[in-house]
Amino acid sequence: MDLAQTVLGAARLDTLRQAGCGAHESLNLTQVAARMSHYVNGVSLRHEETSRDMFPENSLNYVTNGVHAATWAGPALAEVFDRHVPLWRTDNSYLRWVVTVPLDEIESAHQEAKTDLLEEVERRTGVPMDPHALTVGFARRVTSYKRFDLLFSDLDRLRTISSRVGTLQIIMAGKAHPRDEEGKQMIRRVLEVASVLSPDVRVVFPEEYDFALGRVLCAGADLWLNTPEKGMEASGTSGMKAAVNGVPSLSVLDGWWVEGHVEGVTGWAIGGHWSEESNPRLEAQSLYDKLEYVIAPMYYGDRKAFSAVMRSTIAVNASYFNAQRMLGQYIDNAYSLNGKT
Ligand SMILES: *Cc1c(COP(=O)(O)O)cnc(C)c1O
Repeated sequence: MDLAQTVLGAARLDTLRQAGCGAHESLNLTQVAARMSHYVNGVSLRHEETSRDMFPENSLNYVTNGVHAATWAGPALAEVFDRHVPLWRTDNSYLRWVVTVPLDEIESAHQEAKTDLLEEVERRTGVPMDPHALTVGFARRVTSYKRFDLLFSDLDRLRTISSRVGTLQIIMAGKAHPRDEEGKQMIRRVLEVASVLSPDVRVVFPEEYDFALGRVLCAGADLWLNTPEKGMEASGTSGMKAAVNGVPSLSVLDGWWVEGHVEGVTGWAIGGHWSEESNPRLEAQSLYDKLEYVIAPMYYGDRKAFSAVMRSTIAVNASYFNAQRMLGQYIDNAYSLNGKT
């Protein structure tokens, strides 16, 4: 409040206070933004729900985030799109038509993206990866609610799945805020686990997570993992970047995934309904169950079925969770206001 008073002066600060923007010792910038705006939205349906509880006095809407499809589609798959759905770059909704693309074309484009990823990982870490192994990708800001370590709740179970059903390899990336001790601790744990699990399950953590690494990672992984604590993930856009590349998600039902998840069609859910609170023990168990009984058996035993999931992931989710649809919705719902006010 002292700083706010210096910057704004007592009169303006008083106005903000009367508008309900400040409690006592600090000015709540989210409240300032919400109170001073004509239109307020969450960045997913789930985010709107959560925000409603936090800001009951505001009328809220939601416009779910989207990613720029032409930027995030890897070159090999983009070439397949160009051939079958030439208008996809100017109108992403045509990606729905990918549902007719032969599965072997999706499969071989993905294998190219995977080769690019594994080469990049080897270049950065010196660790050679297996191009035939089910490759799980996980990359995001390292912060505690994202639970980088949920996958490592039971190392024996992970080893068993890898030896009994088929080899698993895991590529993780992310940066922690320099002052986030918990985040840094999580990275240390991943590095520790990587050496404990080797050589049964290969886990690598390339350093310097950035746009370039994110790009090859969400295109070349076979499965995109997301394990946020429920109610904490506003959106989770990296799963959309994976979807544009036909990479299905295995994720806790939170953020965008509440809307994007169709079991066995766009990926798989971890744990129970989105409205229930997170239970780490049950969620870890559900994660392992899906890997052991559904995903790895399909990947190793019925590759056509797995490729069909990749294809429907593009048709159902890439055609919708893109920036073009998002901008259109901002225009229709936020800026045009349809004569409502
Ligand atoms: C997309 C992206 C993110 C955000 O990913 P989430 O799934 O929302 O956590 C963070 N960092 C980079 C480099 C990205 O490309």
